[in-house]
Amino acid sequence: MTSAPVSIDQHKVNTAANELSRPAEVSSESSAWTIEESEELYRINGWGEPYFSINAAGHVIVSPQGDRGGSINLHELIQALQVRKLSLPILVRFSDILEDRIERLNSCFAKAITKYGYDGCYRGVFPVKCNQQRHLVEDLVKFGQRYQFGLEAGSKPELMIALATLKTPGALLICNGYKDRAYLETAMLGQKLGQQPMIVLEQLDELPLVIEISQQLNIRPRLGVRAKLSAKGIGRWGGSAGDRAKFGLTIPEILTVVEQLKANDMLSCLQLLHFHIGSQMSSISIIKDALREACQIYVELASLGANMQYLDVGGGLGVDYNGSKTNVPASKNYSIQNYANDVVAEVKEACSAKDVPVPTLISESGRAIASHQSVLVFDVLGSSEVRPQVPFEPSSEDHAILKELYEAYQSINPKNYQEVFHDAEQFKGEAASLFNFGYLSLTERARVENLFWACCQKIIQVLRQETYVPDDLADLEKMMASIYYMNLSVFQSAPDTWAIDQLFPIMPIHRLNEEPTCRATLADLTCDSDGKIDRFIDLHGVKSVLELHELNHDEPYYLGMFLNGAYQEIMGNLHNLFGDTNMVHIQVTPQGYTIEHVVKGDTMKEVLSYVQYDSEDLVEQIRRRSEVSLKEKQITLIEAQLLLQNYEESLNQYTYLS
Ligand SMILES: *Cc1c(COP(=O)(O)O)cnc(C)c1O
Repeated sequence: MTSAPVSIDQHKVNTAANELSRPAEVSSESSAWTIEESEELYRINGWGEPYFSINAAGHVIVSPQGDRGGSINLHELIQALQVRKLSLPILVRFSDILEDRIERLNSCFAKAITKYGYDGCYRGVFPVKCNQQRHLVEDLVKFGQRYQFGLEAGSKPELMIALATLKTPGALLICNGYKDRAYLETAMLGQKLGQQPMIVLEQLDELPLVIEISQQLNIRPRLGVRAKLSAKGIGRWGGSAGDRAKFGLTIPEILTVVEQLKANDMLSCLQLLHFHIGSQMSSISIIKDALREACQIYVELASLGANMQYLDVGGGLGVDYNGSKTNVPASKNYSIQNYANDVVAEVKEACSAKDVPVPTLISESGRAIASHQSVLVFDVLGSSEVRPQVPFEPSSEDHAILKELYEAYQSINPKNYQEVFHDAEQFKGEAASLFNFGYLSLTERARVENLFWACCQKIIQVLRQETYVPDDLADLEKMMASIYYMNLSVFQSAPDTWAIDQLFPIMPIHRLNEEPTCRATLADLTCDSDGKIDRFIDLHGVKSVLELHELNHDEPYYLGMFLNGAYQEIMGNLHNLFGDTNMVHIQVTPQGYTIEHVVKGDTMKEVLSYVQYDSEDLVEQIRRRSEVSLKEKQITLIEAQLLLQNYEESLNQYTYLS
């Protein structure tokens, strides 16, 4: 992956106001469909506010500074990038969204602190594991300066990033994860660089090493303990807490830490209590339960003589991926302000009850900071559809099964569609048996299948008018869906959709003033049957097909996957050797926007080198083989040259289709 020099391009900005006043270019045949219908269908206001919306021309608009600044037409931006030879898929980052997220989180805590008269402050940290890309972490540190926003490291390499990148005086550097001697020495010596490392003990074994190194280096470290709470998280990451959690110290272990520190005259080093109940907490009540338990541990530690000053509530602040504001896994039933209020109020209450000074509050919110800032835009390469069937009309000489199936087809109505579906399935099965025993010709069998699909198509029209879908017909929509082929690898760009069934909002970024008349599932470029997306956000749970527009032959069709700025990039893998996508950083300026950084995606040469192939060696092998074939007159000189030229050029090209 290569980082190109900064290129600055100025473009005219469209303010939200003049976007809206622009007349809609609505073609006559689609005039019945409105952008409001698209808004509702794709739920963009639910998950997108205040950053993503639709303009009158039916394009997705990005307002990276929320309601405070200019906006960018995403469709036009993608075209401008393609003119600059940046091919799709492209990951577009909006630095201003990152800044806005940091501001929001900090201002919510500031408001809560004022509201409850909290006699302490908030010092958030960003967990580097959520997105380690250099430009992003550097931006975070820069935007966070005003709030003394720090970093959290969960491993040695992340500590290396944090130590070098964090330059804000007073900002905290939380050191989590498993630690060995090198980790601990580096963290402690970081103190001498003016950093504020807080070493959080996750394992009892770490303590003797901490004490030993502290004595050797003659440094008094600032220590924390990670508590294993009994309040359990729920959902996907619920296992991060509870008695069997992988991380943290039990109550008896915490007491052992206190005793051993005391015995070594280091109890005043213990200043922080940390807990983390899991990512994407959908329910505020779970967060409150954990807080209550942690607050009690905090005040008890203070009364045991530890020099308690910080309470770190970990990550878990959720993102509303489906925009429903509910406690389903893809959503959350609280706002950032509710979260901040609950943290502040709960801690204040517990501390004042025991006359303990309130701590500086820390959260390690990753997902809530990093998700919104990036949008993955990709194109659709083609589609395959279940074609509309003209039902075969049998005559009196035809096989009885055809006549019966045709009658069933004709009878379909809102009262009997469920019954007819089962009959049709049965006829189809019978036809297969009759065929196997030689009683039905190939043509007759084809006619049965044609009639079966015609029934399904008629039934689905009826079904779509119904408010209730019977369980046994739940898969029909998916069975009848088109497949849209995306120029993308799910494994590289959205691994959590495959690994843990996570939902991201996906929608077209243009043509939103036209009715999307197709229902489709998405298939990616890999040769893996798991390389697909067939679960989409919906107000009520999950839907198995996405409404998309019919493809126009002369026009590319662009889809955006939103809110995928957390965890996806680093968890992505090279399945089928599809590499990193192109990436651009966009920043709003008074004149429009600038392209701050361009990070070109992997070339085939780079991807091949990850699996130890040397591209010159590969070219040489092909050259030698063509020489042999030339000699044997199996290839002409012109053909051999064309082959070699293609081969060599491909090595320097993008791994996706152009
Ligand atoms: C992963 C993790 C986080 C970040 O969680 P989010 O849900 O992304 O906010 C914070 N702290 C610790 C210890 C973690 O492991």
